[in-house]
Amino acid sequence: MASAVMQNYRRLDLAFQRGEGPWLFAEDGRRYLDFGAGIAVTGLGHCHPHLVAALTRQAETLWHCSNLYRIPEQERLASRLASASFADAVFFCNSGAEAIECGLKLVRKYQDDAGRPERYRVITFAGAFHGRTLATIAAGGSANALAGFDPVVDGFDQVPFGDLDAVRTAVGERTAAILVEPVQGEGGIRVADPAFLQGLRAVADGAGLILMFDEVQCGIGRTGRLFAHQWSGVVPDVMAVAKGLGGGFPIGACLTAGQAARTLTPGSHGTTFGGNPLAMAVGNAVLDVVLAPGFLDHVRRTGEVLRAQLERLPAHYPGVVAEVRGIGLMLGLKCVVENRRLVAALMDAGLLTVPASDNVVRLLPALIIDQEHADAALERIHQACAVLADKAA
Ligand SMILES: *Cc1c(COP(=O)(O)O)cnc(C)c1O
Repeated sequence: MASAVMQNYRRLDLAFQRGEGPWLFAEDGRRYLDFGAGIAVTGLGHCHPHLVAALTRQAETLWHCSNLYRIPEQERLASRLASASFADAVFFCNSGAEAIECGLKLVRKYQDDAGRPERYRVITFAGAFHGRTLATIAAGGSANALAGFDPVVDGFDQVPFGDLDAVRTAVGERTAAILVEPVQGEGGIRVADPAFLQGLRAVADGAGLILMFDEVQCGIGRTGRLFAHQWSGVVPDVMAVAKGLGGGFPIGACLTAGQAARTLTPGSHGTTFGGNPLAMAVGNAVLDVVLAPGFLDHVRRTGEVLRAQLERLPAHYPGVVAEVRGIGLMLGLKCVVENRRLVAALMDAGLLTVPASDNVVRLLPALIIDQEHADAALERIHQACAVLADKAA
């Protein structure tokens, strides 16, 4: 039967009935260990009791009233995000692309307010992913994502990821900002060197640019710190988060500080759904768990142990895995075989993962996994690698 759903995804023929913690149960009765987490979204696992309670409580109270009115749960989430970060002010929306879009608009208006309207260009990096709107595909610069959608939104200059000299060269009289993922997700789990982020901060300060971080994928505890850039000691002016913040409920947020936080004034930006009571109740419940004492320590410890065990793969299966990358529970296996073949073999073995560019397989488990889940995943990874190594032999 032909599906009425638009055919804009290459979907696997697999449907799930329910989820529980790091497990997904398929319609055919099979159980999968979920190390994709809906692409780093269900960071607290499926149907976390605290999130279910917050969502159902709010569902019986008030769903939506619009930003015509004060929303106390929104004020509370903003203030908690601000206390836990560099930020003074937060704008809520419904997705990562919208959070980036808010930041991009903010950057232009910030420079305009400062009497520099000619500064509108943003320096971005090869391998970046910032979303699927017209502006965010231009920012990402991927030829595949841009194909067929000309004219490309003007205002982005892309340089190689990690190349500080190229950034310095790219800064011109029309440059407004630098936009970077502290850890590239879609680009293949590429971790920015702390010295690179420190260098970007210095370039931005020297030229009066906004430094904007895209933590849509790497934020909210994924790397073992609340935000990935906190490993580097560098503070941005603007930051987009989304995926993990809602634990599966659609939420995006754009965080800013200082003068940048006063840039978007009434009438200049907005959204109907963003920051509604239902979403904000879930976001606050996510923070209850992620900010609880010991939670991020657990992510760091689990990530280190898992990574140490993954590091043995390239020697065991040199024809399958070339290298292990990442930080915390944002890990990548750079493949020798085609990455989609490893994703398929892992699925056959009962482990769900996500492919990325640069021939990488992403491991993005729920942050609540324990050693038993990590061991169960490793067992499945060895199984899948052995199958592919046998085929190659
Ligand atoms: C997923 C992602 C986005 C886009 O988020 P959507 O919710 O799909 O719009 C932007 N930036 C990064 C780094 C992402 O991983």
